[in-house]
This record gives sequence, structure tokens and C-alpha cells, in this order.
Amino acid sequence: WWSHVAMGPPDAILGVTEAFKKDTNPKKINLGAGAYRDDNGKPYVLPSILKAEEKLRAKNLDKEYLPISGQADFCKLSIQLALGDDSEHVANGLNVTAQGISGTGSLRIGAAFLNAFFPGPKVVYLPTPSWGNHTPIFKHSGVDVKSYTFFDPKTCGFDFKGALNDINKMPEKSIILLHACAHNPTGVDPNFEQWKELSTLIKKKNLFPFFDMAYQGFASGDITKDAQAVRYFVNEGHCIALAQSYAKNMGLYGERAGAFSIITDNKEEAAKVMSQIKILIRPMYSNPPLHGARLVTEVLSDKELRKQWLVEVKGMADRIISVRTKLRDNLKKEGSSLNWRHITDQIGMFCFSGMNPDQVARITKDFSVFLTKDGRISMAGVTSKNVEYLAHAMHQVTK
Ligand code: PMP
Repeated sequence: WWSHVAMGPPDAILGVTEAFKKDTNPKKINLGAGAYRDDNGKPYVLPSILKAEEKLRAKNLDKEYLPISGQADFCKLSIQLALGDDSEHVANGLNVTAQGISGTGSLRIGAAFLNAFFPGPKVVYLPTPSWGNHTPIFKHSGVDVKSYTFFDPKTCGFDFKGALNDINKMPEKSIILLHACAHNPTGVDPNFEQWKELSTLIKKKNLFPFFDMAYQGFASGDITKDAQAVRYFVNEGHCIALAQSYAKNMGLYGERAGAFSIITDNKEEAAKVMSQIKILIRPMYSNPPLHGARLVTEVLSDKELRKQWLVEVKGMADRIISVRTKLRDNLKKEGSSLNWRHITDQIGMFCFSGMNPDQVARITKDFSVFLTKDGRISMAGVTSKNVEYLAHAMHQVTK
């Protein structure tokens, strides 16, 4: 039956981890995977999540199915986390929020909904570059994918002019995907003034903004600051779509907790949209997983736990920010004359280092430093113990 099936390529990011595992060099470093590690290079389960787990255990809850759209409390807490506890849109019932299978599943629900109901061309414009999974998620749902300028390789920063130019050329009623904060893979975000201009232009062009927010709190350590673009757009009257993930900010990677929302014009519209989203979800996976949503609900709804969690997210963000500074300082110590300012300017899990594919191949072969070919460094894999070695290796392949 299956002799015609050709071998597919391995996943670009998971392939890096496979190669890392096979390497026997004791100094090897894995900078491929986008999962947080502590300063000893170990996975980190947040103490607030452990506490939430204990509290759940004591409740002796059953394992019945959740509704198709997920746990209601979880959905409400999630949209409030994004838009603020005092959001008028939430108070007025203008949000449609469904629990999704983490960020990916939430994007997938959104893509399916847009494919079925978007009243313009079924085309989404992604920033160049974007997270590698965006293209297949949309294509798989029948939404065509195009691109707009985002990253400037000359400055390793945001190409604001290029972005405005390209957005100006988009046909009316197109869908534009925006990374809410901590853009993956570049770590480059527009500043607030630039977000404001983007909002004005996107409104003028009558485009539909779809925000992917996979790193709220993880970027700056402040959940409000990281949500500023999303909140600004909503308050400016954009009816946005939003995909949220708790993989990074609560360390719930494998629990698959996330949410998809759409802001609507009125309550009646919201009810109709929700009915159709349920019809789309039902044949895809019937209903979402329980445990992660319960953990998130415990953390966000318990005042003390929430406070503790905020300290812990900030702790993760701060460690990454501090290791960025250490990497830049060590490159200088190595004698590198290149401008590595972007290492500390960029934000979040990733640093788009500017290393080209040849340099990446060399740093892997000669120094057992593993990363994706595009030169993206997962800062989560950098620690106070390996940062000197990493700087040395980077200098050797870039001098
Ligand atoms: N969007 C972006 C930009 C991401 O970086 C990620 C995580 N790598 C996701 C969405 C979704 O991840 P998950 O499905 O694990 O929540």
C-alpha cells in the first residue's frame, strides 16, 4: 500500500537535538531547542506549577471530558491575561475564546476558522523570517501564505521601513500575522511607537491582524509590557485574532495548554463565531486536554500562586537577559571586533546571531555547538558555565 511514499525530511529543529545527542564531546552545547533551561542546563518545572499540582491532587477531580471549547474559567483567565483584568472587551462579552492545544493548536483553530469564514482573500502575510511552523499550519488549513519584510540582516534589527512598505502594498482585507512579543526566530520586536504606526497603517489598509503570543512575560519579565501591542491594537478598535501558549511562560510545554480568541463587534456575532469554532474543533480532536488547563487556572486564579508565578517568569526572563550580556562581554574579551550589539538588543528566547550557514556548520563540526542553519541561538541553552566556551567558538568561526 505504501511503496509510493517518499521519505520526508526530518524536522529542522528537532533534527538539531538528534545530532546533539549523538555527539560525544563533553563540551557540546545544544542551542537548537526552544525550551527554557536553568543555569545548570536542566529543564525547569516552575515551583508555582508544582504547588498547583499539589492543590489539584488534593481536590481528587475526575477525568471527564472538557467541553469542545475547553474549560470556561481557563478561557476567561487566558483572555484576561492577554487583554488585562479590566478589559472592557471581555466585560462586554466581545471575545470568543476557545482552549487550544497549546500555541500550535490555537493557531490551527484560527487558521481553520479563517479558511472557512474570512470575508477577504484567504491569504496570510507572515514576517520574513517567521517561526517555521507558521507556513505549514496555514497551508494545511487551506490559507495561502505570503510574506512581508521584517528583519534587516544589515543591522540584525527590525526593518521598519521595509515592513511599512510591504504592508502598504498588501491588498485590502488581507490577513497579517504579527508576533506579539519576542519574535521567533529573530528576537527582534517593533518598539511601542512603531507598533502604533503599524496599527494605524493596518487599520487604514483594512487588514486583519492575527497575533501569535507564545511568550507573554517571557520576553521582558513583565506580562503587561509583553502584551502592550495586543492591548493597543484591541483598544484602537482592531478585531484581532489571538493565539496564546503557556508552553514557555508557565513551562507547560508537553501539557499543551493554550487559547485561541477572536474579538468581535458585538455579542451576537461572538455567539455565532463560537458556534462555528466548536463545529471546526469537534472533528479535529473533539475536545482539549484537561491537566494543563487546570494548572493554568489554579495559578492564574489564586492570588498568592499568581504572584509567585509572576516572580518565576521574571526569573526566567532575567536569566536570559543576563546571559545575553555575558555572551556579548565574552565576545569582546575574545577580541572580536564585530558589532554584537544585537545580542543584547534582541529579546526573548532567541538570538538571531548573524552567523551564516558555513559558520554554523563550522561551529558544529569544530566545537560541538549545535544550532539551526539560520544562525538562531536558543539563549535558553546558554549558561554562566558554557558562555565563555560559546563566545570562544563564535569568535573562532566569525573572525
Ligand atoms: N508561535 C511561536 C512564535 C513559537 O515560537 C511557538 C513555540 N515554539 C509557538 C507558537 C507554539 O508552541 P506550542 O505549540 O508549544 O505552544
